[in-house]
Amino acid sequence: MAVPKKKTSKSRRNMRRSHDSVSAGAHNECSNCGEMRRPHHVCGSCGHYDGREVVASEAA
Ligand SMILES: [Zn+2]
Repeated sequence: MAVPKKKTSKSRRNMRRSHDSVSAGAHNECSNCGEMRRPHHVCGSCGHYDGREVVASEAA
């Protein structure tokens, strides 16, 4: 079995983990209802995309 020759130092370990953080996903404000929605996706709350309703909403 392959075994590391030297113990990984705290510095090396932390340098390796510097790229491990997860960034928050992209979100934009819906131009129709102001709810947060993902870019290039139909709004989940009002069903609007590109200034028009493409999915019939329950309220309407
Ligand atoms: Zn909306």
